[in-house]
Amino acid sequence: MKTAHCVPVLMYHHVSPSAGSITTSPQNFESQISGLARAGYHALSTQEFAGFLAGKPVPEKSILITFDDGYLDNWVHAHPVLQRHGMRAVLFLITGQIGEGQARACAGQGDTLPVTPDHLQCKALVASGLTDPVMLRWSEVLAMRAAGTFEFHSHTHTHTRWDLASATRDEALTHLTQELALSRATLQQKLGEVSDHFCWPQGYFDAGFVRLAQQAGFKYLYTTVAHGQNLAGGDPAHIFRFAVRNRGSFWIRQRTWLASHPVIGPLYNRWKSWKRTLRPQS
Ligand SMILES: [Zn+2]
Repeated sequence: MKTAHCVPVLMYHHVSPSAGSITTSPQNFESQISGLARAGYHALSTQEFAGFLAGKPVPEKSILITFDDGYLDNWVHAHPVLQRHGMRAVLFLITGQIGEGQARACAGQGDTLPVTPDHLQCKALVASGLTDPVMLRWSEVLAMRAAGTFEFHSHTHTHTRWDLASATRDEALTHLTQELALSRATLQQKLGEVSDHFCWPQGYFDAGFVRLAQQAGFKYLYTTVAHGQNLAGGDPAHIFRFAVRNRGSFWIRQRTWLASHPVIGPLYNRWKSWKRTLRPQS
């Protein structure tokens, strides 16, 4: 078996007909997942990915597909596509925003689908306390876990940027500690398990935050830093991910190939990081 030199980690938020900057349309998602499946890509579980980082070989064309937050559209539009193509993904849940009640309809069942608002509307509704119309319910989470399309991990309990929302550094660290414990307890209670994989809200972390996450029991920390490669022996506390665009099969195959190429990948990442330094600082 040819084995992977690097495992690209893909980052999604919404799969929905309601367009937005971090939304993939259901048509493009179908095209991306079927294109990756046809090209022979194998979507790893977090356990396989953790094994790879520790030096255990995985097939050459391995990827990890991740979703952040836990929007209703992940169940309505992403889950049926993953199921159809036998692909799997990882979802980092904001555990305090997941609701109760029966599972709603998802695509392919022949029922009228729930409306899945765009990202800005989702944010506004969540800010006003109306999470249920746009976020997942635990019943939907359990149905996806049973189907094998998604596995679930922590993205904190409230998605608060405590570095910005606290008056002092001590306060920020105390809040984060409580939040991590609450998120772990919620996953344990609702799903009967909690893992050591964790994703930072809005991608923010610093050395103190990393230490707290590790003390709370999280070893694998997912960033929004795109321009680096996840290699065997790589740092589990700094996992690179790139944001998937609302494009089709050709784009995702090209981007994934680029992310994992042993020579061109690092050159591309250096070039993108250099371009970043040219941007005016606001
Ligand atoms: Zn998030």
